[in-house]
Amino acid sequence: MSNIVAIVGRPNVGKSTLFNRLVQRRDAIVDSVSGVTRDRHYGKSDWNGKEFSVIDTGGYAVGSDDIFEEEIRKQVDLAIDEADVIVFVVDVEEGITPMDTEVANLLRKVKKPIFMVVNKVDNSMREDDALEFYNLGLGEFFTISSINGSGTGDLLDAVVKDL
Ligand code: GDP
Ligand code: MG
Repeated sequence: MSNIVAIVGRPNVGKSTLFNRLVQRRDAIVDSVSGVTRDRHYGKSDWNGKEFSVIDTGGYAVGSDDIFEEEIRKQVDLAIDEADVIVFVVDVEEGITPMDTEVANLLRKVKKPIFMVVNKVDNSMREDDALEFYNLGLGEFFTISSINGSGTGDLLDAVVKDL
């Protein structure tokens, strides 16, 4: 596979909701890998005539916070290896959490295009709150709502330019 977009971020930011929105039109989840690579979901999508695959990284691990963080680290590492571009999702409702900062620090070393995507910006009142995430200092900045779809077109325009 080529043209791979990996969606990474801590649990509950809306990665799977975004993934489902991106692959919906094709309704083609082509693979679900478990075991060593854990539960990454692969789907196909296209935008402006360009086809790409999307990886939804997990968040299925249960256990202590330590195990959880280790799991996220693994997921991010795997995604980084495979991806051509990385969509780093954060949550405007929660603001910046320590785990966001950890993921950001992992991504900082990566020499691939990164999109900093503030999710759950469901209305314009939340645009101001989203600005806080500029402090993570990472990637091209977008605000979206994975639930109502706002902002996702602009994001996709930019993502496929890098494919
Ligand atoms: P993941 O753990 O990162 O995959 O997050 P999920 O996609 O499972 O979403 C976590 C929760 O956030 C769910 O209750 C979603 O319905 C909610 N959610 C996801 N996207 C949005 C959004 O754009 N706006 C709002 N208000 N909630 C969202
Ligand atoms: Mg998920």
